[in-house]
Formats: sequence, structure tokens, C-alpha cells
Amino acid sequence: MIQLDLTGQVAVVTGGSSGIGLATAELFLRAGAAVAICGRDNDRLARAERGLRERYPQGQLLASRCDVLDAGEVAAFAAEVEKRFGRADMLVNNAGQGRVSTFADTSDEAWREELDLKYFSIIRPTRAFLPLLRHAAKAGNAAIVCVNSLLALQPEPHMVATSSARAGVLSLIKSLAVELAPEQIRVNSILIGIVESGQWRRRYENDQEAQSAGQSWEDWTQALARKKHIPLGRFGRPEEAAQALFYLATSLSSYTTGSHIDVSGGVARHV
Ligand code: NDP
Repeated sequence: MIQLDLTGQVAVVTGGSSGIGLATAELFLRAGAAVAICGRDNDRLARAERGLRERYPQGQLLASRCDVLDAGEVAAFAAEVEKRFGRADMLVNNAGQGRVSTFADTSDEAWREELDLKYFSIIRPTRAFLPLLRHAAKAGNAAIVCVNSLLALQPEPHMVATSSARAGVLSLIKSLAVELAPEQIRVNSILIGIVESGQWRRRYENDQEAQSAGQSWEDWTQALARKKHIPLGRFGRPEEAAQALFYLATSLSSYTTGSHIDVSGGVARHV
């Protein structure tokens, strides 16, 4: 386990109320950083906040309802973070979900929704938090880390829109990294394969075949890992993605920008 004292620093994690985002928020709190999380669903957000407060009673935590696709809400979230903590050093653009659809069954509207989600879930928070990140850069570490998918480099036809958007986002991150490098703000991403999370739990719960056969979550994920030929033979855990995000957000990676870390259990086929 990496140990780093982040006391005095502030980490913002979009979509911090579940899965990878929640595990990332936890890692930052454990390292002493103040943490701000957001999500759309109030109940999910309240559950996450309760759990984090129980585990980190001394931790400084802000949980705020905010849809990252709504410019007004994102601006209000940034203002709330500034008011509460006075700064933001690390922004983790994590909020989102994948879309399972082939070209044949993806409507124009679905394409627009997916491109909107993948691009603007990065563009809006980045724009809103940039002034605070610029201040943080002067103090030492300022970083943006985006949760991206291996689909960016290895598209899957059953996730045509997501794969395509993910590739575009990889390009966006590279451009952002170059544009912000002179200001000492680093921009990186992680490319994940399959990580156990809320969205996979929901897919399991909606799998009628698995439910009527009484298949357990463990057996279901194992079978899927085999079917998808994941070399490490299992789904990733949220904390495994979180650790890569933590590395890229903190000064542990102070000379890394415009880059990505593969967290896919070996699924990437390219050299
Ligand atoms: P979860 O469903 O567990 O978590 C997603 C989080 O994002 C929740 O907190 C959710 O809260 C929040 N969220 C979703 N949309 C928005 C929005 N518009 N505004 C604010 N918050 C939002 O899934 P994961 O942890 O798996 O997902 C994290 C990221 O990883 C996502 O971007 C996902 O696409 C990506 N990813 C995950 C993979 C996996 O295998 N798990 C594979 C590839 C990529 P709420 O719904 O309440 O808003």
C-alpha cells in the first residue's frame, strides 16, 4: 500500500458515490487529503458519505449533488469546494457509465448522448476547476486524472459508441496535457478493462438467466472473466483502479503528463 501524506491538499472526485470513484475518495481520505465527491442520486450520495464518515471520522469530506453534464451545477460544485476548502489540487474525472450497443442499434440520439457524456464529463469539471488547479500548481502539485477505458485503444463492436468516444477522449486528454503543461498542471488517464462496480452489479441483477439459475455474483464474474479472456482471470477491484488514479493525481507521478496507465488485467493485445 502506497503511503503519502496529503494533509492540506484537496481532491475532487466526480462520481465519487459508487465504485471506482468511491474507492478513490477513500484512498485520498486515508492519505489525509480533504475530499469532495459528487453524484446525481441523493440516496447513493448520502450512503457513500455516511460510509466514508464512519470509516474516516476525522476526514474532511464534502458530498454534493451535481450532474457533471450540467454546466451550472458543475460551476456551483466548484464554488462549494472553494468555499469549504479554499482550494483544489487534484481533479479526478470519473463520473459516467458505458453504453452497450452495436452500430445497428445505436440511434442518432444515443450517439449524441454518449458523445456528450464522455466529452462533457471531462470538459465541464475541468473548466470549472481550472482556476483552483492553477493556484494549486503554484503551491506544488496540480493534476487532472480521467477514468478512461481500454476501449479507447481496443474497440468492441458491442460498445461501438462508447469505444469511439473513448478514443476521442484519449486525444482530448493528450491535447489538454500539452496545453496545460506550461502551467504545471498534469493531465493523465487510466485505461480500465472490467472493474467490479455499481454498473456491473446492476448488469448482474438484470441478467434474468443468471438470476433464475441462482448464479452467485462471484460465479457470474468468474464466468465473464473466462469468456472475455482476461489473462489475470478476474474482474479488477475498484481499489485497484483507485490506486492507479491516486498515483497519477499525486506528486508520486510528478514527471508524468499526457500519459495513461493500463488497469485491464492484461486484456490489452497491443505491444
Ligand atoms: P459506478 O456505477 O459504480 O459509479 C459511477 C459513478 O458516477 C456513480 O457515483 C454515479 O452516481 C456517477 N455518475 C454517473 N453519471 C454521472 C453524472 N452525469 N454526473 C455526476 N455523477 C455521475 O460505475 P464505475 O465505478 O464502474 O464507473 C466509474 C467510471 O469508470 C465511469 O466513467 C465508467 O464509464 C468507467 N468505466 C468503468 C468500467 C468498469 O468495468 N467498471 C469499464 C470502463 C470504464 P449517480 O448515478 O448517482 O450520478
